[in-house]
Amino acid sequence: MFCSNEEKLNVIVNLLRKSKRILFITGAGISADSGLPTYRGVGGLYNRGRTEEGYTIEECLSGSMFQRQPEITWKYMFQLGIAVAEHQPNDAHRIIAEWEKRLNSIGGKVVVVTQNIDNYHRAAGSRNVYEFHGSLRTLYCTACSWSEELETDKTALTRFKELQKTLLPCCPECHAVIRPRVVLFEESLPFHEIEQFQYEFNNGKGFDLVFSIGTSAMFPYITNPVRMAALQKIPTIEINPVESDLSYYVEIHLPMRAAEALLEIEKQWNKKLSAEISQINADIKIAPNRGHSQNSDGFYFNPSDQ
Ligand SMILES: [Zn+2]
Repeated sequence: MFCSNEEKLNVIVNLLRKSKRILFITGAGISADSGLPTYRGVGGLYNRGRTEEGYTIEECLSGSMFQRQPEITWKYMFQLGIAVAEHQPNDAHRIIAEWEKRLNSIGGKVVVVTQNIDNYHRAAGSRNVYEFHGSLRTLYCTACSWSEELETDKTALTRFKELQKTLLPCCPECHAVIRPRVVLFEESLPFHEIEQFQYEFNNGKGFDLVFSIGTSAMFPYITNPVRMAALQKIPTIEINPVESDLSYYVEIHLPMRAAEALLEIEKQWNKKLSAEISQINADIKIAPNRGHSQNSDGFYFNPSDQ
């Protein structure tokens, strides 16, 4: 239906201007723009072959591996934790957070659902964030109630590097193995978060615009809301440099990288807003000053001139 990216961008900006409740579903592609390597997909670390232990990366980061050989799971979680702390949220995260503020100010709402465990949406300022896979920023003990929040990048970096030296991090109170509050492969999603989101999503009727940014079809619970919204005829937009299974469902597939696309949309949205403000200012100048009234011929006159 839409040929060029220019046309698509124009339609997206017009949809944004009409929308009050927007859902963003984000995947590894959004954080790839921060320089964070993805595990799979274009330029992924583990597209080919196995880890040096002879497992796939999914097996290393699985619940059963953590039960059997937690030091293997931790080895890759250290890599993730350090990489995340060494990079920063990018323009795409920042713009989504800006739009949340913009929509809040007019009584609207922006919700982010992410499969990423890097905390970048919150760090960029987003408040309504559902982290379906948890976050690397909380550590907890598998046996007692000990837990620790890694508040800043600096704290997280220092802590992960410090723990890496121990090979298998243990609880300072009971010496059992500790872990980040992330959902490993084979583990259940956080029930409360999912339930809360389902309520908000309301089978697709809870939003009037849905974006999918940098997600792959790997996790159906991440891509299903986009499909459901599309079935409900809610406008759906996919921002992904490559085609995915979702590209066939969405109304618009914008083949651009996340940060590049959102910067362009933001620029065009602001341009339209400035044009509107200039028009309003021009209208105010033409309109009469206080004390003027309109005569029956439609001309303005000031009673004091009589
Ligand atoms: Zn403990």
